[in-house]
Amino acid sequence: MIYSELKPFDEILKLLKEEKVFLILCNGCAEVCKVSDEENIKEIEKKLRENGKIIEGKVKIDFLCSKNLIIRKLSRYTEKLLNSSSILVFSCGIGVQCVSKMIDLPVYPATNTVYLGGFQGLWPGEERCLECGTCFLGITGGICPITFCTKQLVNGPCGGTNKGKCEIDSEKDCGWALIYEKLKKIGKLEILKEYQEPRNYKLVEVPSNLRKKVFFDIDKNEEL
Ligand code: SF4
Ligand code: SF4
Repeated sequence: MIYSELKPFDEILKLLKEEKVFLILCNGCAEVCKVSDEENIKEIEKKLRENGKIIEGKVKIDFLCSKNLIIRKLSRYTEKLLNSSSILVFSCGIGVQCVSKMIDLPVYPATNTVYLGGFQGLWPGEERCLECGTCFLGITGGICPITFCTKQLVNGPCGGTNKGKCEIDSEKDCGWALIYEKLKKIGKLEILKEYQEPRNYKLVEVPSNLRKKVFFDIDKNEEL
């Protein structure tokens, strides 16, 4: 299982510059961590409306780590999606990346995926999440800079990027070249001008509150 937590609402609002938004919820790990449960979603919908956002539609999909499931389910919402100008996703980082791969709209994570050493679900694709604790997908067109950039940079490419390839491995696409192309495709290149604060590497470890919970759950299971 992959563990995620909701971002503070102000952070979601800062990412979400568009007025019309479609919500996509994962019914897998995200439901277990309660980030996509009804109470949370109702509260966020209310706050979004209070802040002038129009919610064009909402759908919960069993596993957002499956692009097949996403496309099959979303095909029933074509009209609502065409009316939307952005997507807000309640899932782990892999789910957000998968949604972004299937839809050419700005896609934003409502969550941060927190390190617990968890594994993704049933349909592994090329998307990976290193559970970095601060999800950057909202500023990268849904392409993870932590897994796609060899140096895990969050403020654009290093000086070694070479015609779309990475300086560390010329067989590998430069993550930031991919991010640039995606942002260009969805008309969001201006995001690249926003400075990102240095990463908080404390978040790369299991947070102490969750560490205790995990051990407690393991103990409980052993007793069963
Ligand atoms: S930025 Fe990448 S590694 Fe970090 S939470 Fe998002 S998907 Fe996961
Ligand atoms: S060349 Fe691109 S992918 Fe490679 S380290 Fe530099 S920015 Fe990251």
